[in-house]
Amino acid sequence: MKGALYLSDSYIREWEAMVEAAEGRIILLDSTAFYPAGGGQPADKGIMKNPDGRVFSVLSVSKRDGRIYHEVDSDGLKAGESVSCELDWERRYRLMRMHTATHILCAVIHKHTRALITGNQLDVERTRVDFNLDDFDKNKVQGYADEANKIIAQGKDVRIYFMKRGEALSIPSVVKLANSLPPQIEELRIVEIPGIDLQADGGTQVRNTSEIGRIRIEAMENKGKNNRRIYFTLEQAL
Ligand SMILES: [Zn+2]
Repeated sequence: MKGALYLSDSYIREWEAMVEAAEGRIILLDSTAFYPAGGGQPADKGIMKNPDGRVFSVLSVSKRDGRIYHEVDSDGLKAGESVSCELDWERRYRLMRMHTATHILCAVIHKHTRALITGNQLDVERTRVDFNLDDFDKNKVQGYADEANKIIAQGKDVRIYFMKRGEALSIPSVVKLANSLPPQIEELRIVEIPGIDLQADGGTQVRNTSEIGRIRIEAMENKGKNNRRIYFTLEQAL
């Protein structure tokens, strides 16, 4: 993804960029930390400020053909001018915590049941994950959340690095997802929680699991064999 700052550093929240192209309210920047919707993680929100100090709200962010497009709330940004960008950090940081929490919870469930994720939607208030889980038992799911919370409390560093496609595909947990990866990508971005989870992933993550807080299961819904649905939220660590 050209110019995507969040891939190497999820903590960039303010930066200067150049407008490469502006078509009405659709803006292309030379570099951006705005996460485009994808992989179950919603797009970031935030602002861009032009050299006159005029503020444009970023309403939506999406990716197309390896580029990131920002939709702002009004016309006026011009190609060639520089802009000061700022994320809605409270929202983004919450989504980062949700994202890493989802990896840990899914790894625990997979370890015990071999179940795979069939869908997920991160959100600020609560996150939804669907599994192809045979035994959808309330006490068992609570047990998985308790185990995930123990891992979170251990304060494990989350590692993010890039790996050649061929090398990455020799790792079983990466292969599992490989069919959904576009073939033209030569380097895969790996998110590793050592000893817990390793997968190719394009989303934003916290640096250390202790930042997550605690997972609290809010609801469970049975949408059929392939869609056992779990909703969870995050609360501060005790
Ligand atoms: Zn992920």
